Amino acid sequence: MSGTGGADAGGTPGLSIFSKYDPLKQRVDVVNRIGVDPFNMTFDDIMGPTRGRIGNREIILAGTNNYLGLTYDEAARQAAKDAIDRHGTGTTGSRIANGTYVEHEQLERDLAEHLGKPSCIVFTTGYVTNLAAMAGLAGPNDVIFIDADAHACIIDGTRLAGTTTVRFRHNNPADLDKRLARQAIPEGGHALVVIEGLYSMFGDIAPIDEFVEVAHRHGAYLYVDEAHSYGVFGATGAGIAEEQGVLDQIDFYSGTFSKSLASVGGFCASRHPEFELLRKVMRPYMFTASAAPSNICAAQAALDAIKSRPELRTNIMARAAQLHDGLNRMGFDLAAPASPVIAIRRPNEAQAAMEWNWLLKEGVYVNLAVPPGTPQSSSLLRISVSAAHTEEDVNAILSRFRALKDQSGEILNEMMRKIA
Ligand code: PMP
Repeated sequence: MSGTGGADAGGTPGLSIFSKYDPLKQRVDVVNRIGVDPFNMTFDDIMGPTRGRIGNREIILAGTNNYLGLTYDEAARQAAKDAIDRHGTGTTGSRIANGTYVEHEQLERDLAEHLGKPSCIVFTTGYVTNLAAMAGLAGPNDVIFIDADAHACIIDGTRLAGTTTVRFRHNNPADLDKRLARQAIPEGGHALVVIEGLYSMFGDIAPIDEFVEVAHRHGAYLYVDEAHSYGVFGATGAGIAEEQGVLDQIDFYSGTFSKSLASVGGFCASRHPEFELLRKVMRPYMFTASAAPSNICAAQAALDAIKSRPELRTNIMARAAQLHDGLNRMGFDLAAPASPVIAIRRPNEAQAAMEWNWLLKEGVYVNLAVPPGTPQSSSLLRISVSAAHTEEDVNAILSRFRALKDQSGEILNEMMRKIA
C-alpha cells in the first residue's frame, strides 16, 4: 500500500486515503489479467462515425451513442470550424458572465421551438443539465420521485437538490401512483417526477403517456430526460414524448448534445415560462464555463439535420431491427425489444469482460456494462446502433457475435486460466 500520508495527517495509521478502494482494486486487477481495461482504453484514431483504429487494427464502432452518425457530418464539421475561426476555441466564462454568445441563444430558441416550449436553457454537458435543473427546481419542501433505474446524473441531481427522494419501480406508472398517494408533501412543497425516455442500459422505453396521466392527476410535475431518444424517436425527432403524443404535456424536457446532436453540451426545455428565472439560481449553470462555440455550432448543425433529414431515423430503426433480430435468432438473451440500444445479458462480470475483449480483438467495439452501474446487477454487452451503420456493418457485427457464440467454450477456458 503506497502513500500512508493520512496517518501523518491524523488518519488511521497504516491506511491511506485510497484504502476504501481496495475491493475496487481487486476487481480492476481481475479485469487487467483478462486483457485491456474496458474503462481505460484508447483509440489511436477515429476515422468516421463507425470506424476507429487501435494499433493497426480497424474497429467497427458499435458502442458510441453516435445515434445519427453526425459527428462527421459535413455541415456540422464546417459549422464547428467556422465557429472557431469566428469566436475562438473556448468561451473562458460562465453563461452568466462572458460565456453567452448569440449562438448559445440561437440554439436555445431553436430547441425550444422544436420542442414547442416557451423556454429552453443550454448547459455545458447533459450531466450538468440534470444536476442544475433538478436542484434548481426542487427545494427543501419538495419531494423528487425517480425511477429505480435512473441514470447516475438523475441520482446526483437529487443529491444536489438535497430533497426527500422516493424511488418507484422501473417503468411502472401504477407503482408511482401508489407512492404519490402515500407520500406526504410538506406544506408549500410539490412533487417532481423524473423519468427517462429510452433507458440507456437495457434499451427499454418508458410509457411516458401513462406517467403524464399519473403525475398530473396527483398535481406533480413531470421531468423527462430524453438523452438517448431525442433526435431518434418521433415524427420530427422530438423523442418518445412526441411519438406517444404527449410532448406538449411534459413540464421539463432534458437532453444532451453528446448523442444524436454529435457534440458536447445539454439542454432543458420547459412549458413553464418561469423556468427562465432558474438561470439566476442553478449553480451548475452559473459556476462552470459555458460550452465552446464549436460545440454549440456543431449541435446547431446537427439539430438542422434532425429536422430536415427524417431518413436518418428510418436508417437507425432499420439497422436496430436487423441487429436485434439477428442476435435474437442466435439465441442471445436480449434485455428489451428492438431499439437503438441493444443489451445482451451475460452470466457474470468476468465472462462479459472476457467476451468484450474478444470482440475488440475481432474488430468490434461494444460497451461493457457491469454492476453497480447496471439495473438488476446485470453484466451486459451493450450495443448502440447508428444511422451511419450500413447493412454490411450490421452483418459484420452479427458474424462476430456468431463466432463468439461458437467459441464461448474456449473463451471461458482462457478466462479461467487468466484469473486462476
Ligand atoms: N442522461 C442520460 C440518461 C445519460 O445516459 C447521459 C450520459 N450517457 C446523460 C444524461 C449525460 O449526458 P452528457 O454525456 O452530455 O453529460
